[in-house]
Amino acid sequence: MTDTPRLLFVGAGPGAPDLITVRGQNALQAADVVVYAGSLVNPALLENCKPGCEIYNSAPMTLEEITDVLIRAVNAGKSVVRLHTGDPSLYGAIREQMDILDQHAIDYAVVPGVSSFLGAAAALKAELTLPSVSQTVILTRMEGRTKVPTKENMAGLARHGASMVIFLSMSLLKALTEELLRGGYTKDTPAAIVYKATWPDEKTIHTTVGDLVDAAESHAITKTALVLVGGFLGDGYAKSKLYDADFSHGFRKADTP
Ligand code: SAH
Repeated sequence: MTDTPRLLFVGAGPGAPDLITVRGQNALQAADVVVYAGSLVNPALLENCKPGCEIYNSAPMTLEEITDVLIRAVNAGKSVVRLHTGDPSLYGAIREQMDILDQHAIDYAVVPGVSSFLGAAAALKAELTLPSVSQTVILTRMEGRTKVPTKENMAGLARHGASMVIFLSMSLLKALTEELLRGGYTKDTPAAIVYKATWPDEKTIHTTVGDLVDAAESHAITKTALVLVGGFLGDGYAKSKLYDADFSHGFRKADTP
């Protein structure tokens, strides 16, 4: 194995401080410099940092300011953590940081995290891949300042009837509802809004596609939430073959051959 790079992009998890990975926690405890995404990372995680650790909130910083801090720290021989909410690979804007680091020949690695969509599924006690309902999860967002490629338009994705998790779209619920309906979901398709999954003030709201706007309004939820849509939130499904008494597999023989 090669040495662990001095710079780690670490997934902080969805909110609860004990939902960071052990590897992420160890990196935080060892770090001399931490740059954390202040808008969503739970600051309680920073209590793990050692005394004297330099801590930067990236929320008011530009891309270049962030990478400057990272590059200087690595070049000074320090251990550095770039702490992102959930898992860094989802809407984390890590690629643009990595490209600049590559230009400066700075080595780094990524420590995955529990994404907020998994925190939301746990909060709902939901199975996203329910047999005979959906075996596919679509993670997406409405178009905001960040463009979404035309071929990934929401109605087109909804057409699959798969389990959907929609990030970054709480200010666009009316348009989201219209798109979901245009794609073929009905007004009474089950939906849920999960606000601040795994935080102490977490809220889970069971609703329908037709009532998404009202549900968010009546609970005054305008941000830091996910919308989940699909039959997996409903009642019907087929049981899995994995634990079916009549079904043999590598670890178990069927009762009835
Ligand atoms: N990388 C993150 C996503 C960052 S994008 C991840 O893997 O979760 C930010 C969006 O994620 C927010 O607008 C919101 O839609 C969602 N989000 C992040 N944390 C959340 C939480 N604890 N509960 C619900 N939604 C959350």
